[in-house]
Parts: sequence; C-alpha cells; structure tokens
Amino acid sequence: MTAPGRPGGVPSNGTQRAVMYAGPGRVAVGEAPMPALETRAAPGVLPRRCDHGVIVQALATCVCGSDQHTLHGPGAVEGMVLGHELTGVVVETGRDVERVRVGDVCSVPFNVACGRCANCRAGLTGHCLTANPARPGATYGMGEGFGGWAGLQARYALVPYADFNLYVFPDPDHARERLLDVAMIGDILPTGYHAARSAGVGPGSTVYVAGAGPVGLASAVACRMLGAAAVVVGDFNRERLEHVRSVGFAAADLADGDLAGTVAETVGVPHVDVGIDCVGMSDAAVANAGADGSTPAAGAFNDIVAIVRHGGAVSVPGVYPAGAPGTRPRLGVWLGGVWSKAITVTSGATPVRRYQDELATAVLRGDVGIADAVGATPVPLEQGADAYERSGAGAGRKFVLIP
Ligand SMILES: [Zn+2]
Ligand SMILES: [Zn+2]
Repeated sequence: MTAPGRPGGVPSNGTQRAVMYAGPGRVAVGEAPMPALETRAAPGVLPRRCDHGVIVQALATCVCGSDQHTLHGPGAVEGMVLGHELTGVVVETGRDVERVRVGDVCSVPFNVACGRCANCRAGLTGHCLTANPARPGATYGMGEGFGGWAGLQARYALVPYADFNLYVFPDPDHARERLLDVAMIGDILPTGYHAARSAGVGPGSTVYVAGAGPVGLASAVACRMLGAAAVVVGDFNRERLEHVRSVGFAAADLADGDLAGTVAETVGVPHVDVGIDCVGMSDAAVANAGADGSTPAAGAFNDIVAIVRHGGAVSVPGVYPAGAPGTRPRLGVWLGGVWSKAITVTSGATPVRRYQDELATAVLRGDVGIADAVGATPVPLEQGADAYERSGAGAGRKFVLIP
C-alpha cells in the first residue's frame, strides 16, 4: 500500500472506499478519490491548497442524523463522499503543520474552522468566516453550500487547519481501547453538552428533552454531567423509550398526550427549567407544512415552550432549515409563548472544538457512559448503506462505521 514519494503509507493516487450520495435518499459504498493536501474539484468538493492540513486514516466514522438531512436536502451531488464525524490516526502532515504529528490519534470536530478569523478567535468555530466561501460556517460532506469539503466516511480524509481543529488524545492506546466512547466527542456529545450548557443547565436543574434519538440521549447525558436533578426524555417510539429508561432517565410517552402529567410525576411540578429540542424539522416537513392551507407547526418546539417555566430556557440543537437564499420558510413557531413566559432561546451549530478537551477527559477518566447511552453500534464501513437505512428508519442507535 505504501506509495513512493508520499509519507505515512498513504496510497498516493487512485481511489479508496467511501460512503457516497447516490441520488435523493440513496447511499452507496464505492470508490472515491484519495484525499490529498491539494484538493481537486470533485463532487461536492472545491479545489484548494491545504499546507495547513493533514491526512487522517479512519479508525471510526459515525453516521449522524444530519446526514439524513443531506440525503433528502437540496445540496447533495451524486458521487459526493458523506459524513462529518471522524476519529483516526494522522498519516501525513502539510508543511505548515507544527503541533500535530504523524501517528497522533485524534478526534475531528465536525466544524471546519480556520482558527484565524474573528469568529474562530471568539470560539464560534461553527461560524468560521473563511472556511466556506458561500456563508459563515463550514463542515465536511455536505457539499459546496457548506464549504465544499470532502466527507469523512472514508478510509482516508483531509482535515484542514489541523493545528487548530484537531483534538489529539494524550494516550493514543487508551483512546483506541475506548474507541466507541471517544468517537462521540466529534459531534454528538459536544452537541448535547453545548445544548445543555448554553441553556444554563446546572446542579438542580429540571430538564425535558424532546426526542430520544442519539442527540436527545447525548443531551440527557450532558444534563446529568452538569448536575441536573431530573431529566425527562419524550418520544413516540416505544423501543426508544425503553432504552431511555434502561440508561437511567425518565421517559415520557408522547402518544399518551399528557406530557405535563408525566413531567409532574418526575419533577414534582408540571413544568421544567429547561427544554431541549432534539427533533428539529426536516426540509421535507417544511416543504409540506401549510401546503393544505393549515398553519405549519414547528415540530417539538411549541410543546417545549408550553412545558418550560416562566423565565426558563429552550435550547435547540435539532436542525431547522433556513431555506434557500431569499426565502423564509414558515415554521409556525409559537413566539407569543416565548415572549409571554420570558423564555431564553439558544440554538445553532455547536462549536465542537471548544468542549473537546474537557469532554475527552470526562469520557476517558470519568463515568459518562456516552456510547451505551446513545446505543453506539459498530458496523463495517462496507455496510454503510445499511446503517444509513436503519438510522433513517428511526433505529435510535448511533452507527459507528469501522473501515
Ligand atoms: Zn453529526
Ligand atoms: Zn475561522
């Protein structure tokens, strides 16, 4: 496999196995271009020179709920490599890289951030001003609208601005031993943690989490880490609710239609300090909402506003589409509820890099149990299409692709 003229044993040309977009709603595992520090134009990829980048060989690369948005959204092009969650080994470094070394085991934040612009310097790495020519904020595997960076569900991947972006595990063997747990610090655990922290969750907080998928479970775990006194997780799916109870949280069966009653059983009062919306709204739901003349409904958001106490907070890690440039999708948000209860709303892409040092230590030295909580399920990269299908069908598990 070692190619002449290229360090680290990276094949210098040709192709590699990767999970790719194969048309609306479809995924295939096939041959994609090998990554290089100078990228060439490819489906969903812009050409650039990245002397500040490294090539990472994948140990684990996860499937995410937002990959489903990409599959059904407008920005994907056929042959595009998908994915934005990667843990791996550095096998090649660009000439401007000083901190990261070949052999380092690292976690890649899903945000592509330059580390040099005003937003990056303020810690807003989800809104980097330079990594995406189209608008602030960039990520991997979502096409040119998100910056044109190749996806990470592949055997090898380019990570730009590596000194800034990469979290390097101090003990690479320990990280490899705990691969399923540490694979969660590239996106899902920081996402849950940011959702909880930005809404002010702390010791004694009471929290309702809408949605028992992996983001909901990671948010519940984060609330527990931060000292929340009670966490109730709501969903319609019985299997997911069973899992919620098995990992130590209270479950609200939304099919019962009595969320306030269920919350009161756990919390003592029929309201909570903080609600976390891990459901969001898909492009398809937005397109269909109001098509029959009815008012569109903002997914779980309005139910959360109803259950949060006056002066409380609602956090929205779930994705709500902004719409194409120049359009403003009608989402039916109950702003009157927000206003009358003086609720604080926090939202937006998580600045992953801000939290990785403390979360890596918590996961490796503490008792977080994130892999078990989100149902981390390893599957071979070659079965990536099947993993997408199962997660799209609401399996309520976090699939971890292993090359
Ligand atoms: Zn993700
Ligand atoms: Zn930046």
